Amino acid sequence: MTGPAPRPEVLRIAAYVGGESKLPGVNRVIKLSSNEGAFGVPPGAAEAFARVAQELHRYPDGGSTELRRAIGRRFGLDPERIVCGTGSDELIQHLCHIYGGPGTEIVMSMHGFTMYQIAGTYAGSRVLKTPERNLTADVDAMLGAVSAATRLVFLANPNNPTGSLLPRAEVERLRRALPSDVLLVLDAAYAEYVERADYEPGIALVDAGDNTVMLRTFSKVFGLGGMRVGWAYAPAGVVDVLNRVRGVFNVNIAAQAAAVAALAEPGWVERSRAHNAEWRARLGAALTDAGIKVWPSEGNFLLADFDTVARAEAANAWLRARGIIVRGMAAYDLPHCLRITVGNAEECALVADALAAFMAEARTHG
Ligand SMILES: *Cc1c(COP(=O)(O)O)cnc(C)c1O
Repeated sequence: MTGPAPRPEVLRIAAYVGGESKLPGVNRVIKLSSNEGAFGVPPGAAEAFARVAQELHRYPDGGSTELRRAIGRRFGLDPERIVCGTGSDELIQHLCHIYGGPGTEIVMSMHGFTMYQIAGTYAGSRVLKTPERNLTADVDAMLGAVSAATRLVFLANPNNPTGSLLPRAEVERLRRALPSDVLLVLDAAYAEYVERADYEPGIALVDAGDNTVMLRTFSKVFGLGGMRVGWAYAPAGVVDVLNRVRGVFNVNIAAQAAAVAALAEPGWVERSRAHNAEWRARLGAALTDAGIKVWPSEGNFLLADFDTVARAEAANAWLRARGIIVRGMAAYDLPHCLRITVGNAEECALVADALAAFMAEARTHG
């Protein structure tokens, strides 16, 4: 007997594997595998979550009105041009289905965020991955892959998992050279961590035309990965179609309340950014001292390069045996690397010490 057959392209998708959070036999796990904020949940968000418990019988506001207003105030944006989603993942999926589909192509860079490939393939598009330079998206290579069939170009900036960033001028050059009917999606999930002056998350390009979208998330600096809230800042035409197809009540009542409260948490982003800048540098220096190559990162994570697959796997096993979970990078075609989230001070020290010991052991025993 044969069951119902899915569309063939669905079976070409490798299911997304999230960062692990448990290790057998280990009570206290140090989880540095999903780039969650180093400080946990903003206290005000936890309080808002508890308060909303008495209202769980109510449907949420399907338009996330208060949340969009709060985002608009915080970032100086028109709430009418904001669409909230069940994480930015939901919005990535919808954009692929709205603008992509069979016979169309989507362009992303080689080590770009893998969700674009999953969502694009699901939509029926062909997803083209273009070569990078120094693990950084190459605008010319991306432009070279654009054809008459191209409908979307995805750029995570900064990129996960490489941490690399394209300066504002390069992103503008990409937009200028793309055909006007190609949607450029700028995924700025890590925007708050960036300290470089030549960076722009995408707001200016969204405002400058009708074919660029910026995506943001509450899952990283705002410490709400478990709540699933992301948002798009988009031209009116894109807002209109996203609102036609998104889940009607896509952002649940607790998620909306927690996100509004997270935005109101005094000093949260500033403290998180300062902590990240300090500990990203300290962790990077410690790994470099231990003899591990570390790629420059503008996010809240570092890509540690062990040169060989065997050494990266041995390092991963070594960390796991000590209760530390980082992210293996085989799914990103970087099997010789591990991605390590910048955690709190203690977590950074633990992972740095463990990897220094690993490298010392590797030197002694080959
Ligand atoms: C973490 C991350 C997101 C956020 O996804 P959510 O669905 O909002 O949790 C989006 N893009 C990139 C590049 C990320 O690393």
